[in-house]
Amino acid sequence: MIRVKDLRVDYENTCAVKDLSLEVHPGEVCGLIGPNGAGKTTTMRAILGLIEPTYGEIEVLGVDVRERPEDVHRVMGFMPDLPPVYEDLKVWEFVDLFASSYGIPRRDRPTAVGRALDQVGLAEKRNTLSAELSRGMRQRLMLAKTLLPDPWVLLLDEPASGVDPQGRIDLKKILKRLADERKTVVVSSHILTEMNEFCTSVAVMERGRMVESGRIEDVNRRVLGDALVAVEVLDGLEAFHEVIQADDRAGAVVRNGEMLEFRFRGDAAAASDLLTTLVRRGVRVASFNRSRDNLEELFLKLGSRELA
Ligand code: ATP
Repeated sequence: MIRVKDLRVDYENTCAVKDLSLEVHPGEVCGLIGPNGAGKTTTMRAILGLIEPTYGEIEVLGVDVRERPEDVHRVMGFMPDLPPVYEDLKVWEFVDLFASSYGIPRRDRPTAVGRALDQVGLAEKRNTLSAELSRGMRQRLMLAKTLLPDPWVLLLDEPASGVDPQGRIDLKKILKRLADERKTVVVSSHILTEMNEFCTSVAVMERGRMVESGRIEDVNRRVLGDALVAVEVLDGLEAFHEVIQADDRAGAVVRNGEMLEFRFRGDAAAASDLLTTLVRRGVRVASFNRSRDNLEELFLKLGSRELA
């Protein structure tokens, strides 16, 4: 678990992070989102103990980062946003070098290296020189190196930037597995739509401050209001109105062309149950759409709220 309380980080002329509190629990993939310069990297570096906070408390797995930095480093993996690679090493040699520095015995290293490269989809490139990798492949290589010691806490700075669609699918799988293994994961990005795919929670930063945090659905609901459900009904209009009126999570029904629309306070599972009830009651539903969580919209709204 990561616990940050009242963090402030000042650079010479800039206050990069102020009054920031954040908790990330095991099994959670938290998306740290915000525009360029919001303070995401600074926050991650402070959690890693690479930057001395001006004040504030940071604990990782219950250990104070400032008091016992070595203990904390042992359980953390970090992938920086502009990963340096040793250009004259082949892909497998690069990962093997880190395997050795992590203390993985020589006889176990080929298997560990092979598994790490498989996970990130770089097995075919194992004999390519690092210098010849594309940006997205370098990202994958750094991810392989970061996953190698199987850390309990992972901080990934912009892991999806420059990565192609297949790379994003691989990344999503890896993050899902880490969450299933009860790892604690923070992923930063300024590409908001990515976060819907990868994360279970979000922490939105702007100009050094945390402006919203929580489960994606809850943050959406707080900022955007309830989801909008639009249903096209072919037959059974009376039953439709009865079902919607009886559900206290649903607002008033408004006709919009072919569609019947209403605000709905439930989550995706609740919307699915509602659809099942409609069908069971004999309503013929041609289409059913619940407006999806839209982080882009959320972000714009947060931005304008901050400015206001
Ligand atoms: P990006 O999405 O562009 O990576 P970020 O959210 O990670 O941005 P930070 O890199 O943490 O933001 O920067 C936060 C603020 O701190 C910015 O105003 C930046 O100019 C400033 N800053 C970052 N690093 C330093 C430094 N080493 N010295 C002085 N100021 C810095």
